[in-house]
Amino acid sequence: MSVILGAGFGGLNAAHALKKAQVDVTLIDQRNYHLFQPLLYQVATAALSPAQIATPIRKILAGQRNTTVLMDKALDVDLDAQSVVTASRRIPYDYLIVATGARHAYFGHEDWEKFAPGLKDIDEAIQIRRRVLIAFEKAEAATGEEERASCLHSRWSGLVRPEWRWQAPSPNLRGNRSSATSHTSIPLRRASY
Ligand SMILES: Cc1cc2nc3c(=O)[nH]c(=O)nc-3n(C[C@H](O)[C@H](O)[C@H](O)COP(=O)(O)OP(=O)(O)OC[C@H]3O[C@@H](n4cnc5c(N)ncnc54)[C@H](O)[C@@H]3O)c2cc1C
Repeated sequence: MSVILGAGFGGLNAAHALKKAQVDVTLIDQRNYHLFQPLLYQVATAALSPAQIATPIRKILAGQRNTTVLMDKALDVDLDAQSVVTASRRIPYDYLIVATGARHAYFGHEDWEKFAPGLKDIDEAIQIRRRVLIAFEKAEAATGEEERASCLHSRWSGLVRPEWRWQAPSPNLRGNRSSATSHTSIPLRRASY
């Protein structure tokens, strides 16, 4: 029994690689959909809807007979007992692949988070989208140019270089490529990406 934690790019690629292996695979993710993160920008700026960048994991792996998909959140890994621990069960494994991704960082400025949410999941994208659209509404209702300009001024921080574009279309976005760019207002390390 092989267990894969996480159905992001890493976990899904691992599952695909094991497609023809003589092994039972259990893929566990806290969500039942795979999120195509490179297009989160388009959701955050109202160019795409959340459903356009989320694909059910079971749909992606349909036809992969040796793989079972479970929606659950791993809380711990019991190395001695060789099992993944969730709130309601223990899932045993012979081999474990951990592909649970990463979180954004504020490099010691955690107090920035309430003003500038990260952009790693749909909830965060919707939160940013709401702020952007409300700012446009306030600009529309503004009575002076200065007030309007302040509503339309925003700063996006992070490190996505224009030449780093996604090359592989997601299963439900064939032919649609991200051209995400962002203004880098603070010097972040390249390795943070
Ligand atoms: C806004 C944005 C734009 C990007 N643009 C590009 C780009 O243009 N080009 C490029 O190459 N890369 C880009 N990336 C980076 C790329 O998306 C990531 O490198 C990639 O998603 C990492 O894959 P992963 O499988 O390691 O992790 P993730 O894709 O983050 O997947 C991790 C999975 O693990 C699950 N998980 C986490 N914790 C648990 C738990 N405790 N229990 C169960 N499940 C759990 C999550 O739900 C998730 O499904 C971008 C990322 C972002 C956020």
